[in-house]
Amino acid sequence: MNSHPRLSRRHFLSLSAAATAVSLLPGCGTTEKPAAGPVVPPPPSGPYQLGPLPYPVAALEPHFDAQTMGIHHGKHHQAYVDNLNKAVAMAPNNPFNPDPRVLVSDLSKISDSVRAQVRNNGGGHANHTFFWSILAPAAGGDPAGKLGAALEAQFGSLPKFRQEFAKAGMTRFGSGWAWLVRKEDGSLAITSTPNQDSPWMRGVPEVAVTGKPILALDVWEHAYYLKYQNRRADYIAAFWNVVNWAEAERLFTEA
Ligand code: MN
Repeated sequence: MNSHPRLSRRHFLSLSAAATAVSLLPGCGTTEKPAAGPVVPPPPSGPYQLGPLPYPVAALEPHFDAQTMGIHHGKHHQAYVDNLNKAVAMAPNNPFNPDPRVLVSDLSKISDSVRAQVRNNGGGHANHTFFWSILAPAAGGDPAGKLGAALEAQFGSLPKFRQEFAKAGMTRFGSGWAWLVRKEDGSLAITSTPNQDSPWMRGVPEVAVTGKPILALDVWEHAYYLKYQNRRADYIAAFWNVVNWAEAERLFTEA
């Protein structure tokens, strides 16, 4: 078993160069050594980008904790973006719409070689971007306006609506999402989807209800396990304290 001295030397030299570069940065002490282990190339950058959270990571405490929010946005959502960009790099001639919601709305346009990758990671990017937008600090309460009236008319009462929505989240086996959707005919529906599927996806057998999402709740364990462990019901109950009803109303009433 011969080792590879040239490779090792090259590896050492690249680490030395990296250490030199780091030590030139302001605020970096010279005592820190570069991390051991393989040098992982950075993921391809663009065309898709992770947007910032619309509020600080701790803004939804104590309902959604800062540690979970930071990892969920900075690691999980970032990974969907990175893996979507890898699909672009692999099959650049596909019609990659810059809006991930449009991208996943017709997966038949995407070539077989990257379709699953686009479904999972384009879906993940679209779903999480939407999820952050319908959460807000100092939110929750009852929806007013046209959405509140429509929910009462369609589900009997707001508590009944909450009960139905929670049931959709609780009964989604494994990983997925619960949704409130405005269907083509303008009526509201509650549904759930597996994995990173969504009501934006048309022509997908696993998606029972298509339309315009008004609310979404991520019920993957990564969304709640650090704070709630296996208690998905407690996480869903906490969700009602951080729902951005003003944004939901805007989505419901816009064209
Ligand atoms: Mn998630």
